[in-house]
Amino acid sequence: EMANKVAVVTGSNKGVGFAIVRALCKNFKGDVILTARNPELGHAAVQELEKEGLHPKFHQLDISDHASVTALRDFLQNTYQGIDVLVNNAGIAYKAASTAPFSEQAEVTLKTNYFSTLDLCETLFPLLRPHARVSNVSSMVSQFALAKCSDALKARFVSTDITMDELTGIMKKFVQSAQNGTHQAEGFPESSYGMSKVGVTVMSMIQQREMDKKGADDIVINACCPGYVDTDMTSHKGKLTIDQGAETPAYLALLPPGVKEPRGQFVRELKVADW
Ligand code: NDP
Repeated sequence: EMANKVAVVTGSNKGVGFAIVRALCKNFKGDVILTARNPELGHAAVQELEKEGLHPKFHQLDISDHASVTALRDFLQNTYQGIDVLVNNAGIAYKAASTAPFSEQAEVTLKTNYFSTLDLCETLFPLLRPHARVSNVSSMVSQFALAKCSDALKARFVSTDITMDELTGIMKKFVQSAQNGTHQAEGFPESSYGMSKVGVTVMSMIQQREMDKKGADDIVINACCPGYVDTDMTSHKGKLTIDQGAETPAYLALLPPGVKEPRGQFVRELKVADW
């Protein structure tokens, strides 16, 4: 007997992630797993979609807790024997008005947005089935941060030979230099969130190249920006509804079999953007 297809969305109890689950419930032929670090918030979100006649399933997931990530992996392996769609949406951002020191913002933001997302990918990617689609929610802020990096850093971030080890080394160096107050001298911009999303965008490009090198069967990985969305993260200043914000991430999650483009790219408003 063939297992159902399955789609997983991280950080989906609210905001853009919640709307991605809603979009996938309507358009993906298979089970959709809504995940949240807080099970109460997750179950409440599932109930809200149930009222709309949609039927996501729930699984706990805190991407920064490796035991939680491996528990999800085991659940997916046992129930579905694979993964068809993975949307890495979970992320954090300090408010512009935050008085937390830059060193702390750098460490905490990179930990969730870059290191935890990478850990989740390393843990779940072995389950990706042929034709799987991975949609990594980055941000247009990654483009702004890239533009503010030194020429030397920029050259590495846009190169097609950068490895995951090199990228992770640069992200560690950013956090380290933020502790010493030398990040600007080392060519980094004054934005922890921006650097974390440079990490997510470049990570996605490397992941596609690694998949292709391994001879993976039509596995497609892209990074994207949802646009400026009305959520808690933006203190509800964004102009787009969460459903509008979900359009590009869901589009990448549902790219048809054999798609030639986008593949390993950064996508905004349903279009490949410059990197
Ligand atoms: P919200 O703050 O509204 O939602 C973020 C979600 O991520 C929440 O469900 C939150 O859970 C979850 N989350 C945070 N940390 C973790 C973790 N360690 N493990 C699991 N889940 C976690 O943000 P948005 O919906 O606005 O943002 C979604 C994504 O879109 C983010 O990656 C963000 O960077 C990106 N983005 C958003 C833009 C916007 O304009 N809104 C613009 C560009 C990019 P909890 O409720 O428990 O905190």
